[in-house]
Formats: sequence, structure tokens, C-alpha cells
Amino acid sequence: MKFISPYIFQAYLTCPREAWMLYHSISSDQDHEYLALGRLVHETSYQRSRKEIFVDQLLKIDLFRGELLAEVKKSSRHIEAARLQLAYYLYYLKHEKGLEFEGILLFPKERKTEKVQLTPELEEKIELLLDEMRPLLMADKPPPAKRIKYCRSCSFREYCWAGETEI
Ligand code: SF4
Repeated sequence: MKFISPYIFQAYLTCPREAWMLYHSISSDQDHEYLALGRLVHETSYQRSRKEIFVDQLLKIDLFRGELLAEVKKSSRHIEAARLQLAYYLYYLKHEKGLEFEGILLFPKERKTEKVQLTPELEEKIELLLDEMRPLLMADKPPPAKRIKYCRSCSFREYCWAGETEI
């Protein structure tokens, strides 16, 4: 397993069990309201300044104003995870493709942006996380469900907590 998709990488930061399910292609509820909102924000924001590009048919990236690798987020609530996810895109492009970019996080609903640079500290953090997540993703079974705040809005909540009245 050489490359872990940024989508799975980001999921791991929130919940390793969710990352395992995505990695093993267990589909979530695609009509889930939060996913729908995320798609809508992504599709309608900054339309004129963004250009979508596919890399290896695996990685869809947005170039903002032709120079910055952009990631649109519906809120800055999980900003630390968003920074790491974007840093992971930059890391992949640098190490697999020899392309060096800076990144930008866009929060259109909050009219906020933040630049992200792939520093040596961030690279080291990413490598440690990759070492940690590889064996977990390759395991036959997912890690047990752990109740966290995100469960309430997670698209796998029925899968993990079926029959539970309080999530
Ligand atoms: S419902 Fe909770 S435990 Fe289950 S995958 Fe989602 S975040 Fe993880």
C-alpha cells in the first residue's frame, strides 16, 4: 500500500474505524445531510477562481488562482485535521510527482482563508501518521467503535450504533 487517499487520511484523523471502512470500500449513506451540504459548498464556492485537475485518476485537486492547491471546507471547526489533510495532498504531489505547491484552505461560509505550507515538521508528522495507520487499515477487522462527538454527524452512525437511542 503506497498511497493512501487523502479522503481516508482525513477520516483517520477523526476516527480510525471510519478510515478502515472507507479503505475497505464499505459505503456510507451517500444521501446523508452533512455529505450533501459538503458537496453543495464545494460545488458552488469560488467557481471562477478554481480549476479542478485529476492526478492519476485518484486525486482530484483544485488549483486556486492557478497557483495554490485549494481545499474548500464547510466550516473551520476541524481546522487542525483540514490543515493536515491539505498538507498530505502537498506531500503526495511533492514525493510522488515532483510538484511543489503551497496550499490554501477556503471557508466560504465564514469568508475565511488560511495558507498551508509543507514544512519539515508537517512532513515528519505525516510520515509518523502513515506508519501508524498502515497496519490498522490492512487489518481484517475494523477497530471497535468509540463514541465521539463526530458520531452524531457521521455517515456510518447507523452501521456503528444501530439500535442505540443515544448517540
Ligand atoms: S459512527 Fe462514530 S465510531 Fe462509527 S465510524 Fe462514525 S465516528 Fe467512527
